[in-house]
Order: sequence, then C-alpha cells, then structure tokens
Amino acid sequence: MEKIKMTTPLVEMDGDEMTRILWKMIKDELILPFVDLKTEYYDLGLPKRDETRDQITVEAAEATKKYGVAVKCATITPNAQRMDEYKLHEMWKSPNGTIRSLLDGTVFRAPITIPSIKPAVRNWEKPITIARHAYGDVYKSVEIRVNEPGTAKMVFDGKDGQKEEVIIHEFKGPGVLQGMHNTDKSIRSFAHACFKFAIDTKQDLWFSTKDTISKKYDGTFRKIFEEVYEEYRAKFEELGLEFFYTLIDDAVARVIRSKGGYIWACKNYDGDVMSDMVSTAFGSLAMMTSVLVSPDGKYEYEAAHGTVTRHYYKYLKGEDTSTNPMATIFAWSGALRKRGEMDSLPELVNYAEQLEAACYETLNAGIVTKDLAGLMEGVTPTVVNSEGFMKAIRERLDARMK
Ligand code: NAP
Ligand code: MG
Repeated sequence: MEKIKMTTPLVEMDGDEMTRILWKMIKDELILPFVDLKTEYYDLGLPKRDETRDQITVEAAEATKKYGVAVKCATITPNAQRMDEYKLHEMWKSPNGTIRSLLDGTVFRAPITIPSIKPAVRNWEKPITIARHAYGDVYKSVEIRVNEPGTAKMVFDGKDGQKEEVIIHEFKGPGVLQGMHNTDKSIRSFAHACFKFAIDTKQDLWFSTKDTISKKYDGTFRKIFEEVYEEYRAKFEELGLEFFYTLIDDAVARVIRSKGGYIWACKNYDGDVMSDMVSTAFGSLAMMTSVLVSPDGKYEYEAAHGTVTRHYYKYLKGEDTSTNPMATIFAWSGALRKRGEMDSLPELVNYAEQLEAACYETLNAGIVTKDLAGLMEGVTPTVVNSEGFMKAIRERLDARMK
C-alpha cells in the first residue's frame, strides 16, 4: 500500500512520562504504517525544556502560528518535587499556559462518547463541548483583607482623561475586597474563536453570563459576542446553526435537560467549574479531548489529561500498564484531519476518520483499558494492557484501510 502524502508539516510537540511512551506507540503502530508523516518536531519533554531554558516551548508555539496545526503530548508542569526529580534550573511555567498566551487561544474540551458508557445525565445523547475563556476575571484579581471599618473605593485613572471613582462599600467592620478585570480585546478573541469553532464543527453555540446582575462587566461580554456574531451570522444561517445567549443559571438548567451536541461558551470561572462537572458526568478523563483555537484560526490538539505519572512509575519498574490512549489518538486524528482539510487532502481526512472509527470499533467490541472497565454497561469488557489496546485498534485499522 502506498502511504498517504502530506504537503505541509504538522507541528509535533512531544511530552513527558506515560503519555510520551503512548505517543511513540501511537506513531509506530497507528500512523507511520499508513501516513508519510511530515512533522516539524519539538521536544517539549521536561529535560529539553530545561536544557533550552524553555525556548523550545516558545518555538513550538511560533511554529504553530506559522503552519496553523499542531498536536501536543501531555507535559509536566514543574513543581518543587519536579525541581528535585529533574534537577531543573528553574521552575518553568506550564507549557500549555505559554502556548495559550502566545496564540491568544481558547480551549475547547469535548468528551469521546460510546454507547456502552452512559453519561450520568441520562438524556445526554451527544457530547457537550465547553469553551472556557482563559483570561482574567477572578484568575487575575487582586484582593484585600479588610480588618477595620473604612471606605472601599474603585478608582480608574485614564491616560487620556477618563477619571472614575465609585464607592464599593462602607465597611462597618472586617471583611474582604476583590478587584478584577477583563479586556475587550481578549473577550473579542474569545468570541471569534467560539464562532469559528462552531462553524468548523457544525454545532450550535450557547453563551452564558450573569448580565442581569453585572450590567457593565458581564454586559460587555454579551455585547461583544452579539457584535462579533454579526460577522458570522450569514455562515451560521447557511449552515442552519444557532447562536443562543442566555443567563448562566438558565443555561445550567437547559444543559441538564438537553440532548447535548452543542458548544457551551463560558466565562473563565464558569468554564473552570462547568468543564469539570460536564467531563465527570460523561465518564473518564482519559476520554476527554482538548483543542486550542486562536482567533485567527490556528489549532493545537491534545488530550485533556496529564502525563499519567502513576502509570509511568509502574512502566519504569517493568510492570504492566493499561493506560488509555484514546484522547491522545484523537489529538492526532483531529490534527491530521484539520491538516487534510486545510491542504485539500481527502485521503488524509479519510485516514483520520478511519483511525477514529477503528478506535470506536475496538471499544464497542468491549476491548478496553482498565480505567473504562468499571464504567461499561451491557457489554462484558475485556481489559487489555497499553500494547494490547494499540494492537486491537491496529487490526481494525488495517481492515479499514485495505
Ligand atoms: P493525570 O496525568 O491526568 O492523571 C491523574 C489520574 O487520572 C491518573 O493517575 C489515572 O488514574 C487517571 N488517568 C488520567 N489519564 C489517564 C489515561 N489516559 N488512562 C488511564 N488513566 C488515566 O493528572 P496528574 O497525575 O494530576 O498529573 C500528572 C502530570 O501531568 C503533572 O506533572 C501535571 O503537571 C501534568 N499535567 C499536564 C497536562 C497537560 O499537559 N495538558 C494536564 C494536566 C496535568 P489512576 O492512577 O487511578 O489509574
Ligand atoms: Mg477546574
């Protein structure tokens, strides 16, 4: 069989620990036999980040801007214990944070669902994708602990003359204060990424805030989304898609009663909390995909989970591991499909479809990694190890690619 050709390289970001092991297995077993893989390789494994003083992360993000599509393996975000373990020069920042800020991107998380793993919410039939605004609000807030009576004020001192001062509260005794902000630029980028991704995946877009209570702050989010929507309205109408704004509390009620199958755009805090709720309700972290989309349409695909450290230590001791590669495989298929669409390579798009179909077929046959065994209903699962799971997918992919 002739291998499928690529024209533009995919930006490949390698990572750490167990996911680095899976990364190589996925490439060797599931991709390289079928695709004449063209990647620009960046090793974001912690040793290389330390050796390059984290420049490699910046270069990988720049390459993503240049080529438009990247696939990333999970990486360690160093903490004190990792400083010791890897003898690091510095406690390098989270690569995901660095890449996200360089691409000014929004993260979309969606679960991979199969019929035998039922979501905790019984009426959910399709995945719910959460888009979380990843800048500002309480995550960039300043706080004061008030110990005595006094006046709290908010002051704005504009460079061109806007001067505003409002009283927040006349404290009669101890209390707390918090000041937070966001910028039109960041909200607008978030809105563009959401509308683009909705069109891309042909799903309705829901957006929720609390603008009845927060008339200026949340009101600005709503107003910007409504303005930006006008740029996408024609395309939405052509595709029969809906942009739907509602209050956050109404959204929560509607999400629980819904069948799923849409994107729910959330402010930073709502997205943090709701994405954990929605992903837990869908089943397993190992089945959660994640894609970073920039406002100018650059894509970085990855799994939502981390490097699965506990399994890696077992692997190092030579023990058997049963680590679920689904989200990492779907990061690859997502990136290859996107590359295929951008470069008009129908064979590459088809390969990505077949790879995902082979994964679904494997799971639907009851062949699973340990994490999924307890979640399945109506199927007697056969638990296999990491290699066994890859092989089971490979057999089905071979049959499909014939
Ligand atoms: P984790 O790697 O997501 O793993 C937490 C636990 O979830 C695992 O111990 C395992 O449970 C289960 N799990 C996660 N993915 C799985 C998979 N594919 N197959 C089977 N089980 C899976 O989170 P963590 O242990 O908190 O973090 C480990 C490292 O990852 C940290 O250094 C952190 O900085 C990094 N991290 C990176 C990213 C990223 O790059 N996007 C995201 C999060 C964390 P059992 O042990 O019970 O089997
Ligand atoms: Mg959270």
